[in-house]
Order: sequence, then structure tokens, then C-alpha cells
Amino acid sequence: MTRRPLVAGNWKMNKTASEATQLLQQLSYSYEDTCESVDIVVCPPFTALRSAQVTLNFDSKSEIHIGAQDVYWQPSGAYTGAISADMLRDLSCSYCIIGHSERREYFNESDEDVAKKVLALTDAGIAPIICCGESLETRESGEAIAWVTAQIRAALTLLSAKAASGVVLAYEPIWAIGTGRTPLPEQADEVCAALRATFRELYGDSMADALRVLYGGSMNPGNVSSFAAMPHVDGGLVGGASLKAEDFMTLVKAFS
Ligand code: PEP
Repeated sequence: MTRRPLVAGNWKMNKTASEATQLLQQLSYSYEDTCESVDIVVCPPFTALRSAQVTLNFDSKSEIHIGAQDVYWQPSGAYTGAISADMLRDLSCSYCIIGHSERREYFNESDEDVAKKVLALTDAGIAPIICCGESLETRESGEAIAWVTAQIRAALTLLSAKAASGVVLAYEPIWAIGTGRTPLPEQADEVCAALRATFRELYGDSMADALRVLYGGSMNPGNVSSFAAMPHVDGGLVGGASLKAEDFMTLVKAFS
């Protein structure tokens, strides 16, 4: 089955609102017709979402979707500093990264938190991009697949098949994020295939065949084509290279 590729840029804690506008204008400038075959998602920090919404609203040339980097599962109330799924929806977010290893490590996000966030997003009609990934120690002990499939099972515990239909998974080995190191494309493909097999067990063939699984971790213009050639890698979740318009669009074009 051919799946529509998806390339998402995780801007992390980078770009002010005005810098975000500038980067989006540069992305739009590099946009070509071939990019139409790829779902392009940018995930700015919360403070730049409104700029992204306005900039992309006035941009008739490119088709770029907005994503957030996190959400809180409660719908509203006394949760100082938190952002709800409805607030994201109102800012035209159609995707949201969830369970990134940086959130798990620096903000103590647990598998239970991830599952509640995933449910809140799907209830709001926002597609979660659910991240999983193993440490170097886990990879070297041969437990990578068991680890990431357990993370994904935990993230999906609250989701019915209907709610799971928009979900995107991202395999991001922790040791590859921002390090310049990557697994071999075949190793990434093996893990992405295992994630699809887990989805198949939970939700059946047609959902698994339609599921998009991304690879993330030091993807760049020099290595992207080898990942794009893999049958179970349906796109990329990109950190550093998403902050430079030309590099990011090179990645998008490699999946088109
Ligand atoms: C990420 O953090 O999601 C990521 C893939 O980062 P980088 O591309 O910089 O390794």
C-alpha cells in the first residue's frame, strides 16, 4: 500500500514569533509542486503558533500544516502554564508531537501521561505524532524493539480503533537525536516495521497498512535518501535540520 509521506519539523525551544514568520516565508519560497505529495508539518513553540497560523493563512503558495510540541490532557481549569487540545485546535494545529524523549527526560513525562495526552488530542481531532525510542544501552543489549513497542502499546492503551486512525508514530533512538549518529537505514526500517506490526495486532490490517511511521534522529540532506528508500519509513521527524529552510525542504523533497 502506498502511504502519503509526512515530514515534520520539531523546532523545539527555538524561534521567536517573528523569527517563525521569517522561517515560514523561506519555506514557502522553497516550496515546489513536487512537495504536494508530502504532508509537511512545522511544530513551532507555543509562543509562535499564532504567527504560524497567520503567516500560513496568507500563504496561498504552499500547503504546510501546523503542529504543536506538547499538550495537557485536561480540557480547561486551574493548571497554570498548561495548554489544552482545544487551544491548539483554535490555532489551526492539526498535529501534535507527544512523548518526545526530551519531554520524558526533562519533564518526567510518563507512559500514562503520554496515553492521556494522546486521547485528549484525538478527542479534539488533532493527530498525535507519538514518539518512542531507546537509549544506547538498550540498543546494545538487543532490547530496542521490545522497548519501543512497549512504549507505543502504553501510549495507545486508551484509544479505540476509530480514534487511532489518525495517529502517526515516530521512531527516534535517543542516541541519534542531535548527535549526528544514526542507525543504519535497515535498522531503522526494522524498528518501524515492528511498530507497524504492533499496530496490526491492536487494530487490524487496514489500520496498520495505512499507519505512517516516521524515522527521527540526525536526519539531514546527506542521509535522507537512504531512509526514504526504506519500505516502512513513511517520513521524518526532524529537529536541527528543520531550522534551516533549504535543508528542511531538501528532506521534504526526498520523500516526494
Ligand atoms: C528530534 O528531536 O525530534 C530530532 C529528530 O532531532 P534531530 O533531528 O536534531 O536529531
